[in-house]
Amino acid sequence: MNILLLGSGGRESALAWKMSQSPECSQLFIAPGNGGTGAYGKNINLNPNDFEAVKALALKEAIDLLVVGPEEPLVNGIHDFFANDDELSHIPVIGPKKEGAILEGSKDFSKQFMARHGIPTPGSRSFTNETLEEGLKYLESHALPIVLKADGLAAGKGVLILDTISEAQAELKLMLGGKFGNAGSTVVIEEFLTGIELSVFVLTDGENYVILPEAKDYKRIGQADTGLNTGGMGSVSPVPFADQAFMTKVEQEIIIPTINGLKKDKIDYTGFIFFGLFKVGDQPLIIEYNCRMGDPETESVIPRIENDLVELFVATTKKKLKDYKLKISPKNAATVMIVAGGYPGEYEKGKSITGIDNVRNSLVFHAGTSLEGGVVKTNGGRVLAVSSLQDNQFDALQSATGDAARIYFDGKYFREDIGFDLM
Ligand code: ATP
Repeated sequence: MNILLLGSGGRESALAWKMSQSPECSQLFIAPGNGGTGAYGKNINLNPNDFEAVKALALKEAIDLLVVGPEEPLVNGIHDFFANDDELSHIPVIGPKKEGAILEGSKDFSKQFMARHGIPTPGSRSFTNETLEEGLKYLESHALPIVLKADGLAAGKGVLILDTISEAQAELKLMLGGKFGNAGSTVVIEEFLTGIELSVFVLTDGENYVILPEAKDYKRIGQADTGLNTGGMGSVSPVPFADQAFMTKVEQEIIIPTINGLKKDKIDYTGFIFFGLFKVGDQPLIIEYNCRMGDPETESVIPRIENDLVELFVATTKKKLKDYKLKISPKNAATVMIVAGGYPGEYEKGKSITGIDNVRNSLVFHAGTSLEGGVVKTNGGRVLAVSSLQDNQFDALQSATGDAARIYFDGKYFREDIGFDLM
């Protein structure tokens, strides 16, 4: 079958790497892809949010399956666009329609969904410009610190944690005043949790689901989780503190009520659900849903899946996940992101990358790279994901960091402590 994968990050590199190994995959197109995805298929330079361009490509290449990597096209309705177009409606899509993607696209919606279906989540209230005065008053008696969340997609920057009531009040005004554009026209004020975070993923056909390996990502730029937030500096899978008892709770209290909630609300959902969780004592609480896989979690999760990914996707689109048995490697995966100097602030692009061929015990998933005249160059903040799968966590981390050190470009930086806190 001919498959089209939308996206250009490390997540898409890992998905493309895995799908390209399937005997079911005759041709794989990655749009737009990056400097490394050409090794798994054909890169097509288009914007995944330009649905007409995606349509033209899907028809030209007789695409049989569309896999959507990032959230934006999903929240913008690419699945609906395919389903409602006579020439495209026969093409199944991995990724929910708009009505499902709103779980990520609107935090206010997702909090109401969790409340409606009794899914454990920190307490919250939402405010708009009309209820600003009420919001400011509500903050006066709020426990500290205070979590403010812009309702819509804000490129990972829409969550603020404030230590004082006056700072929170000032930020609420700024957010409702347009600091994040439309994304902040509603703001969720949420109770602050103290615990440890992890990411749990399922793939659902709307009726049934398979639970993929869980992962933990590392968001801060600096060693020992210090400094600014990033898109993610690394990840590990499995997560040692997510033991069997905890994962059973996650399934019973969060995953099953979510799948049942979607059914009750008549939201037909096909694709990944990413549960952003906190473990507080023994209790899992959900702080966010995403309608796609995480990045850099995917780079640790995908190498642990032993099934044929294309077969799994086809089973999903045919609503045949009921008896699907996932085979998960017991090995440990660790991913180290190599980023451009200056990231997550200002950084330069176009630096030549060398040493990828010297990597010994890891997979290298390209993220912000481009291929220019046969030379791989940096083309983004997060440049390469180096992922290693080994018999234990220590070896996986050692290999991934050791291999990250073998790669060079001007200004390169990576964290050397990914996952060490868990050992
Ligand atoms: P991303 O898309 O990068 O995962 P986001 O902008 O959608 O992030 P969240 O994941 O909801 O936002 O929050 C970002 C971070 O803020 C979380 O990873 C967590 O560290 C922190 N955070 C969010 N909600 C809470 C909370 N209720 N208590 C404590 N910390 C929180």
